[in-house]
Amino acid sequence: MESAVSRKVVYRLYPSRSQEAALLDMLGLHQRLYNAALEQRIAAWRLQRKSLSAYDQSRDLTELRAADERYAALNAQSAQVTLHRLHLAFQAFFSRCKNGATPGFPRFKAFDRFSGWGYKTHGDGFRFTPGDGNRHGKLRLSGIGTISVRGRARTPGDAKTCEIQRKAGRWYASLSVSCRPQRTGGTQAIGLDWGVETFATIAHENATFSAIENPRFTRQAQAALESAQQNLARKAKRSKNRAKARLPVAAIHRKTAAKRLDFLRQQSAKIVAQSWLIATETLAIKNMTRSAKGTIESPGRNVAQKAGLNREILATAPRKSLDMIRYKAAEAGIAFIEVPSRKVKPSQTCSGCWKQRKKALSERMHICACGLILSRDQNAARVNLWWSVCMLLAAYRTIAGREPTGCLAQSA
Ligand SMILES: [Zn+2]
Repeated sequence: MESAVSRKVVYRLYPSRSQEAALLDMLGLHQRLYNAALEQRIAAWRLQRKSLSAYDQSRDLTELRAADERYAALNAQSAQVTLHRLHLAFQAFFSRCKNGATPGFPRFKAFDRFSGWGYKTHGDGFRFTPGDGNRHGKLRLSGIGTISVRGRARTPGDAKTCEIQRKAGRWYASLSVSCRPQRTGGTQAIGLDWGVETFATIAHENATFSAIENPRFTRQAQAALESAQQNLARKAKRSKNRAKARLPVAAIHRKTAAKRLDFLRQQSAKIVAQSWLIATETLAIKNMTRSAKGTIESPGRNVAQKAGLNREILATAPRKSLDMIRYKAAEAGIAFIEVPSRKVKPSQTCSGCWKQRKKALSERMHICACGLILSRDQNAARVNLWWSVCMLLAAYRTIAGREPTGCLAQSA
């Protein structure tokens, strides 16, 4: 039996008009609570040189709830969550001070900057009922009512905590769900290489290769993003029109991010479903995103915003995708091996004769004196596969002290 894991599932809320007004009221209460607690911490420090703890503040919250009926109506645990967020902001501030980084004292939050609130326990302040086939459902929030939600959990499970978020005028509930995922692997051993021109190259055990192409939607979104950004740039700073022009830019980013996530989910599920062994290099992201305009870590000055979308995707997609494959492989109970690329050097090593030769990044072909000719990515993917299989074999020989005939005969 698989062990339980915690998953985040995000649902979009479809509140009625009166529910939306109640949600906004509640958001305002949490925002005021957050700011009041921040003010209290600052005052305590100024007047008494006293550092208030989360414990002090939750005791005061009890008094506040007794004195103010609006706060009394607020779910007590959710108010604690808001105080805890301030506590975390202070902890981060103190650790930045300690590390000598720019401290950035916790700030008062304007209503528009205040994103939401949370609940700690299912049944205390919130109750989620999934719809048929685990799609959509109903979310009951105390003080607000039952709201229709849309979204889908891949694996059914029990809701544990809930965060209500407001983003660009929309409402979302992010539930952490405890579930026992059921996933199975396949019959292949594969090696993966992550590329820039190609999303990923796969080396199969039967000496063939396949490729996963980069999704098109990034290029499609690029044109729309450029024109939305140009439009935004024309508006006067701090004007109403500028605020309005910001919405399409945010919408394009949101849609692209959702499509990209969906793409990564589908591809990683597909890869895991066909394999019993997945071998991949450890990613060195710096090398992949180096460009004339600097790196993601230290971008050049005045990097055009239009470069942003592509750069961001190239930089984050393989990392994210690798993380997804890792946990999906664990769910399916199949082998996942990360090849130490600094030691093995998949792009510099021949998958035929195992000799090493330095290649420039521009060299897209692998042409070896041993006669092997492959694309650079195909060769690297195959190096990852062979290296992992060899390591398993070597480990068996060391541990068992003989050739792996017995267990292979049993599995055949
Ligand atoms: Zn060779």
